Amino acid sequence: MKNVHCPCCGEPANPRARGCRRCARLINRVDPRGRPDKDARVKALIAAWDSAEGFYRCHYSGVPLLTDVEERGSPRYLSWDHTRPGVEGEVVVAAQVVNDMKSDMTVEEFNRLVQSLARRIEGGPDAKPKDFDLKHFHRGERARPR
Ligand SMILES: [Zn+2]
Repeated sequence: MKNVHCPCCGEPANPRARGCRRCARLINRVDPRGRPDKDARVKALIAAWDSAEGFYRCHYSGVPLLTDVEERGSPRYLSWDHTRPGVEGEVVVAAQVVNDMKSDMTVEEFNRLVQSLARRIEGGPDAKPKDFDLKHFHRGERARPR
């Protein structure tokens, strides 16, 4: 039988699956917000794989991500983030806590807000209201079905 390797991490893989056991589980993870774009997920995993260290890194922070089911609940657990909220084809992997912080923000909005907070934490000026202009942030509407 031909040896097949995971396109994401290079581990041996089942030829009928999209990757090794771990990566196939990550790619096929159910998203309650919509049907995932699995090709986009494969690309995101390939981009996030640190082949020297043998783990995935958070797109935003670079922190090593945890992927074992038993590690679910950790702030470093691998989560899928939509760089543009709601766009399935634009996904990256992010530490769960970073994803929670970025919730409903575009990358640009997230970076602007985090930089504003960091300046304030370093003793700089108060954040500006425009730093909180978040196009996709609609908390009151969240419970509504789409
Ligand atoms: Zn893999």
